[in-house]
Amino acid sequence: MKANLNHIKSVNKKYNIFTSLRNKDIISDPSLSYSPLENTTYAIKDNFTTRNEPTTCSSKILAPYISPFDSTVVTLLNQSGSSCIGKTNMDEFAMGNSTVSGYFGPTLNPAYEQDQDLVESYQQIDFYTKDSISETDGEVISKEILNGNNNNNSSFNENTTTASSLSSHSYFISKLHSDSMERISKKQRIVGGSSGGSAAAVALNLVDFSIGSDTGGSVRLPACYTNIYGFKPTYGRISRWGLVAYSQSLDTVGIMSKNVDTIWKVFTSLDLSDSKDPSCLSDSTRESIAIERLNSKKNVGKKFKVGIPKEFLLNELNDDVKKSWKELLTKLEKFKLIEVYPISIPSIKYSLPTYYTLVTSEASSNLSRYDGIRYGYRANENECNFDNEPEFITTRDTGFGDEVKRRIILGNYALSSYGYNSHFMKATGVRGMLINEFNKVFRDRNCLIENKSFQSTNGIDMIIVPTTVSKPPLIKDFWQTDPVTSYLNDVFTIPMSLAGLPTMSIPYGGESMGFQLVGQHGQDYKVLEFTRLVESVLEN
Ligand code: GLN
Repeated sequence: MKANLNHIKSVNKKYNIFTSLRNKDIISDPSLSYSPLENTTYAIKDNFTTRNEPTTCSSKILAPYISPFDSTVVTLLNQSGSSCIGKTNMDEFAMGNSTVSGYFGPTLNPAYEQDQDLVESYQQIDFYTKDSISETDGEVISKEILNGNNNNNSSFNENTTTASSLSSHSYFISKLHSDSMERISKKQRIVGGSSGGSAAAVALNLVDFSIGSDTGGSVRLPACYTNIYGFKPTYGRISRWGLVAYSQSLDTVGIMSKNVDTIWKVFTSLDLSDSKDPSCLSDSTRESIAIERLNSKKNVGKKFKVGIPKEFLLNELNDDVKKSWKELLTKLEKFKLIEVYPISIPSIKYSLPTYYTLVTSEASSNLSRYDGIRYGYRANENECNFDNEPEFITTRDTGFGDEVKRRIILGNYALSSYGYNSHFMKATGVRGMLINEFNKVFRDRNCLIENKSFQSTNGIDMIIVPTTVSKPPLIKDFWQTDPVTSYLNDVFTIPMSLAGLPTMSIPYGGESMGFQLVGQHGQDYKVLEFTRLVESVLEN
């Protein structure tokens, strides 16, 4: 797909999808012809580092930050021939499921009525970098920022640099109407989050695919709410180098598109080990998964055994979703694609508190680096009360939004001597139990367990469950909901995150409804293959 900047800017005015947009019409690079993602464009969530525009995590505290390096995902996508058009809006630091409360205003859901523009105009920002090439590996290792969005740490010396050694960069940021909140249609529903901007960009056909991060559902939930596909691969399958850490034992790189084949190609381009990310699966683990996969191809032609965990039959489940779930399973059975089995994974019922204990603990530790001293926003000296408290307190108080502060406090409690055993360690134990229970029901071996006797030949191949309990709430209602109640929207996506399982959310029925196809840890290609088969049945 070619990207037409004027078209993207005009569509973005209504929905506020991008935190920054690259100032160019994307024209494909002829040297990358025959690359796997040749002639494709993508948008990337603003918590992945990119060198030539800001990386903000939709937070005031990172608003002025420009990273000196590209994330591995960006490097690999560039090498595969795809072009990035911009960075997408999100919940601050990926904490949330709505994309309505970040520092740059809400992203709206393209599946619902919206007449008025939220964005009034664009500000063009131009800046320059001085490239210094490392002789050792031939890679650009540092770029000093000449001007534009301040970088206080820049060691650039204007007098010693000639114009010929500079590269110029340009991007746009949006300026919202002063009454943008009143401009939101009463019928608007949340786009979902935290990768809401990435989902909206795909839903509006602005890009072929987009990249999000999924810690507890942030790719699957907005994909479901905008009627597209959202894939969360196995934890560790795609490098997290350059993805700003929220909760590193759960953070996963996810892919969104309207097309399963595109997701497949993008996944193949990114499915590589990376020595820069210690949690990324090693080459030997990848090899053993591939060999087992080839062996299990013997099952081709046989039906997939699908498990339905009884713990997902929740009271909160909306009647329409229940009805469609049954309808989907009946259709797939009728086409002789699946056989359905009731299963039980008892620890699913503890997933929500377990997740929120672990995720806040890891976040409180990860976010301690934002002190206004090393990078990003720093509170104005006049605001600080130097007599009573250090400057970083004011920086953090004025730089973080309410939800981020709430989670830092919760996480600090869970890691403190009061909460460590009763909260953090307990949650870690429950997570272990949950993983064991998943391992017991699947036919395939969890690729992290060396002992092959763990494999159960009678097990199931897939789990099919809804992505959400109901339609997305109206924005006006969501703003009235207390934060802890809103955590309930994650109840169907979180168990797979805690267990690191590959999961595809597929759209169903065109009304913000979706279902998750879940495979065993490491069985990403099986999930992709199964998705293709399901897609072909649904198209019939
Ligand atoms: N809604 C969940 C949370 O706030 C998931 C977020 C995510 O996956 N990034 O933690």
